[in-house]
Amino acid sequence: MSNQKSKFIKKVYPVVESIAGSLGIEKDKMRRSLIEKNNLEVKKNKYNLKPEEILILLPHCLQLMDCDIRVTNDINNCKRCGRCPIMNFLEIIEKFKVNVFIATGGTLARKAIKDLKPKAIIAVACERDLSSGIVDIGSLPVIGVLNDRPKGPCIDTLVDIDKIEQAIKFFLGEE
Ligand code: SF4
Repeated sequence: MSNQKSKFIKKVYPVVESIAGSLGIEKDKMRRSLIEKNNLEVKKNKYNLKPEEILILLPHCLQLMDCDIRVTNDINNCKRCGRCPIMNFLEIIEKFKVNVFIATGGTLARKAIKDLKPKAIIAVACERDLSSGIVDIGSLPVIGVLNDRPKGPCIDTLVDIDKIEQAIKFFLGEE
């Protein structure tokens, strides 16, 4: 992403969002627009990354609420019962050898980025968390994928795995 674009996202977008909010413009609409613009900017570039240079950041709400297994910090603890999308990400790890991390918040996500030093990120979240994450991450290329929330926010959310595979292939230079 160009420096100018990155500067806009980091410095100007938060101000635009807060003004829009005070004018009664729907914030999620603004956020979706930022995420789409960001994804388009990232996709203007070509990448040829190694799988280990790609980090997929997932929100904890993808895990079934009824599941007691602790998958934050280590997704491999999942028992693959298939009741939630976490199992799909174990398959993604096996297929592509990318890094996948489930974060309970921004602090853990930042730590994963600091520890793993990815060259590109695929982030799954709601409009609010994705847009603030894109602003936070700054110059690292991020493809944002919105989660689906059939039960409402933060509960048993879902994600389109095809979009994740497409984003991985894009960063691997396969698409
Ligand atoms: S797939 Fe099953 S075991 Fe794995 S996190 Fe989801 S509910 Fe838990």
